[in-house]
Amino acid sequence: MRLRFWGTRGSLPVALGGDGVRDKVRAALRRAEGRSFPSEAALDAFIEGELDFATSHGYGGNSSCVEIIGGDNTVICDMGSGLRELGQQVMQDYGPGQPRRYDVFLSHVHWDHIMGLPFFAPAYIPGNEIHIHGCHTVMEDAFRRQQSDPCFPVHWEDMGAEFAFHQMQPGQKYRIAGFDIAAIKQNHPGDSYGYRLERNGKSAVYSTDGEHKQDSESETRQFVDFLAGADLLVFDAMYSLADMVSVKQDWGHSSNIVGVDLCHRAGVAHYCLFHHEPIYDDYDLQRIHQETRRYAEIMNQGQPLQVSMAYDGLEIEL
Ligand SMILES: [Zn+2]
Ligand SMILES: [Zn+2]
Repeated sequence: MRLRFWGTRGSLPVALGGDGVRDKVRAALRRAEGRSFPSEAALDAFIEGELDFATSHGYGGNSSCVEIIGGDNTVICDMGSGLRELGQQVMQDYGPGQPRRYDVFLSHVHWDHIMGLPFFAPAYIPGNEIHIHGCHTVMEDAFRRQQSDPCFPVHWEDMGAEFAFHQMQPGQKYRIAGFDIAAIKQNHPGDSYGYRLERNGKSAVYSTDGEHKQDSESETRQFVDFLAGADLLVFDAMYSLADMVSVKQDWGHSSNIVGVDLCHRAGVAHYCLFHHEPIYDDYDLQRIHQETRRYAEIMNQGQPLQVSMAYDGLEIEL
């Protein structure tokens, strides 16, 4: 099983602006002071080996979309703005003449998780099948309303692909697209659902847009049981703990620190922070990644926890 992240930002897509570019250029030039680079290879080696991630790369700005590779079809969690680039890649890989089936697991229908569909090229091609699975009863209505006057010129009925909506129930087990799948309800305005996907002895949990207050042991226990022994947790770590405790409590999201605690309790091997706050720039996100790693090391009581910060383009092999 392999996960490819196409969109990792929460609430709203963001783009790196001119000031952000300037900050990175400045940081790179400062680091390169007094150095010379006799070849392109030497320059690349410097960029890859000596610049920090926030300067040389960055986390990207598309909203939630993760591809799970290794099953029978193209399997996707959420249809945020990252879905547009996923669609372009599929078109490049398979061409428009080859019909494909897509299975999508939807955490919820907030706009940042469905806004990519009108820009998903395979949705306009007859012969393609797009199966949308989720626990909300309003899924189809939400997609239809997103593509209705006066907000969008192409109506739902004019999409070329065939769509099917599949109602799931939390707590039940399903076999879809070659994965064993279960869902769990999460605290979020209008509810959201996390998904556990298993195949060939490997397991990944996709859990975004959920607030874990940890003031109810039975609720926490239920989530810990859902995570138990997972190889990977992709987790809504939208806020830093300081933000979470001061102003953003009850906003329906979690912090980097809460995710570490849950992983330690559940024996998760790899923790991936996801759904990044759009206000944070690349240097903020890099700092949160380092602090989270440090916290995970300090709190570690046995098996070490690998900590990743999701970015657009990241791939994780399980
Ligand atoms: Zn969201
Ligand atoms: Zn949401």
